Amino acid sequence: MCGVFGVYNNKSAAELTYLGLHALQHRGQESAGIAVSDGYDINLKLGQGLVNVAIKEEDLKELKGDLAIGHVRYSTAGGSNPKNIQPFFAHFYGGSFAIAHNGNLVNALRLRHELEIEGAIFRSTSDTEVFIHLIARSKQPAPPHINLHKNDEDFLPHVFEAMRKVKGAYSLLILREKQLIAIRDPYGFRPLALGKNRFGSYFVASESCAFDIVDAEYLRDINPGEVLVIDDAGIRSYYPFEHTENPKKCIFEFVYFARPDSKIFRDWVYEIRKEMGRRLAREYPMDADCVIPVLDSGLLAAMGYSEESKIPFEIGLIRNHYVGRTFIQPLQEIRDLSVRLKLNPVREAIEGKRVIVVDDSIVRGTTSKKIVNMLRKAGAKEVHMLISSPPVISPCYYGIDTPTKEELLASQMTVEEIRKFIGADSLHYLSLEGMVEAAKSKGYCTACFTGIYPVLDEIFTEVEIS
Ligand code: AMP
Repeated sequence: MCGVFGVYNNKSAAELTYLGLHALQHRGQESAGIAVSDGYDINLKLGQGLVNVAIKEEDLKELKGDLAIGHVRYSTAGGSNPKNIQPFFAHFYGGSFAIAHNGNLVNALRLRHELEIEGAIFRSTSDTEVFIHLIARSKQPAPPHINLHKNDEDFLPHVFEAMRKVKGAYSLLILREKQLIAIRDPYGFRPLALGKNRFGSYFVASESCAFDIVDAEYLRDINPGEVLVIDDAGIRSYYPFEHTENPKKCIFEFVYFARPDSKIFRDWVYEIRKEMGRRLAREYPMDADCVIPVLDSGLLAAMGYSEESKIPFEIGLIRNHYVGRTFIQPLQEIRDLSVRLKLNPVREAIEGKRVIVVDDSIVRGTTSKKIVNMLRKAGAKEVHMLISSPPVISPCYYGIDTPTKEELLASQMTVEEIRKFIGADSLHYLSLEGMVEAAKSKGYCTACFTGIYPVLDEIFTEVEIS
């Protein structure tokens, strides 16, 4: 779970990247970094924490140049290692480059092991570093079906070979001295889009909400399996895989992760998330007095539920915005405490009422259990928990931070057992079909709900998720 942002052809590239990263802050709060090229040299600024803590405004003055990439990072449990802050920078005989990655490679362990045996030295625990080594070591020419522009002859064959060796999820940005390259893996697990402003600057971002903040327009998605190059010769794309896979876009981006004001995978998150709520109401009509969201992630589904069921919408829980996402805290003790820090019931809205609570998902069950308890204490007569996605039963190996299978409540308990565990009067989940239909277009990865993984290798979950 990370966010990437890139700028081509703008004198304020670093400042715009800084803004873009702010818009993508929800995709990762652990660290942030910016790499800028002035056409000759690449300079970086990296730091831990939120974007405005990791990088100070005065740091931006040192980042001169017209091209930039940036990254916000979210780590898996236990891994807040400063060595893993991206973008990564590397220099090899073909030149210098910086790289920013969103996704997770499933064969990173095997590749890393092979590379280490050959003498490669790694400085991070991140799967992204495998890319750098593969690029540096590549000797293969470009695949025969590819007709390379002369600007791309030296570097891109290396990138193509690296792409053919890795397996898994990668939405990647590469910054070279005079080039910005955007890459999406052949399954298209993670989103990545291209934008442009009225002065002719190009932008690439994980989500379109980052274009709004820099006054750019969404042009199109980077396609699964596409390598898009932007430089002084213009903009061009390559498809290094002769046979592209059926897309496997991450449906959890629509359920929870992406911002509702974003367009990802060519659709608006707002509408799809709301539709999940409407479908939930059709699948589970209830007799109740009000519908309340678990803010912020349950907001749109709760609105959809209320709209469809005609049961009044209330804000029954207030969210304190000055505490981070509870899930982000690596330790269970802190997580428990921060649910209370984060949400507080509004007695006036719920007292004596039969309440429908809508949230997007139950992972470990910590949030739901506390919410049900809080609402009862605040006087709710009945508490019905409705979830706008199916039970999460399997970990994600493609870049969403989910705990191990054992920690996933729904992999250990039936729905009725979960209901008892969280203490709700009833508990219902949106069906898999309902969720997929709400997502409109086809070609989704639903592995966290089904355990069916589109691509697997040796799973190395200790590798940091990028
Ligand atoms: P839990 O308390 O472990 O059941 O987590 C459920 C809450 O965390 C829900 O309110 C979700 O909105 C949110 N959530 C679900 N998946 C994730 C994730 N991968 N990272 C952070 N938060 C999540």
